[in-house]
Amino acid sequence: MQFRHLPLSMASILCVSTALVMQNSAEAATTEDLALAPTAQTLTARLVAPATSERAFQLEVFADPSAPMGVGNLSSASWTDPHTGAVTTVDAAVGADNIARFQIMAWKSIAVTVAYGAATTQLAVDVAPPRVPIKAPSNAPLQQLAYRTNLDPPAIGAGANSTVMMLSAQRRASMIGRSWHRGCISLNSLREVQVNYWGVDGYRHRGILIANAAVAPSIRKAFTSMHKVGYRFRSMHPVDVYGKNVISIGANDYASMAAGNTSIFNCRYQVTKERSRIWSPHATGRALDINPWENPYLARGAILPNRWWFDTRASSPLVIRGASPVTKILRANGWRWGAWFKDYQHFDYRG
Ligand SMILES: [Zn+2]
Repeated sequence: MQFRHLPLSMASILCVSTALVMQNSAEAATTEDLALAPTAQTLTARLVAPATSERAFQLEVFADPSAPMGVGNLSSASWTDPHTGAVTTVDAAVGADNIARFQIMAWKSIAVTVAYGAATTQLAVDVAPPRVPIKAPSNAPLQQLAYRTNLDPPAIGAGANSTVMMLSAQRRASMIGRSWHRGCISLNSLREVQVNYWGVDGYRHRGILIANAAVAPSIRKAFTSMHKVGYRFRSMHPVDVYGKNVISIGANDYASMAAGNTSIFNCRYQVTKERSRIWSPHATGRALDINPWENPYLARGAILPNRWWFDTRASSPLVIRGASPVTKILRANGWRWGAWFKDYQHFDYRG
């Protein structure tokens, strides 16, 4: 099935497969029961072309003509959001054509339960990712178990759809004591950049980067270009989710790297140099770490977050090289790659 309202490039590769099983599960009834029971419908649920984006689709529910639903009566559809776990139930009135129509918001895969009176049916909807998921080489180490799940929510709107805003009170509260503390640059000099990105799972996600206000416009531009060329990310969220670094000040960058998380601001010392208190350029929100799991840092006495990708030089669309589109895009926007000091995940802003 083609998604008619998607941009052509996505519509051509996005498909929806359905496994539809419906049966009114009433047990065998006596003649007397049947006389008293309301008419038992046999419902059918089917998918029609989605209306708005890769997250939405339309469902039509109808009954066997021998026992039609009552026009104007309500049918319901419920489903669980795979990302948030929230259950949504919506009603739709049966139309004059004996069809109830639903607009469902889904992501990845969901099962929709449709009901009319005592009759129910379930429709399993597998919304295939618009792009092919990226698989690591079979002998590559897995990310640390606790961080392997991609935490980021679905994309919002078409394209990169980037926004830049002041830090909300909620954002500040989650940063204080983790990525920010007294003595760091003012929270007012930082911005939250939100941007859609292509995930390793082939779906588009909404990413959040905390950056210095001075570099936010260039970050916005660069990440819009990265969305355009389809560069993939494991995750892109503020480092505060990983808690405080147990060794020193700042949020736990070791965990963020182990998660393969792309991030900018973290008011911390350089990793492995905490004791000598050498500030990291991330402390001012002018340095960017991209896909650290596949792009290690050769720190003093350590290769972080793992050495496999460095030792093997294995290729992956996530691995950054000098000629990679990601490097060219960032260079064009004023960022210098950290390969010259063996930090392959790192870029810093030169203006
Ligand atoms: Zn860095």
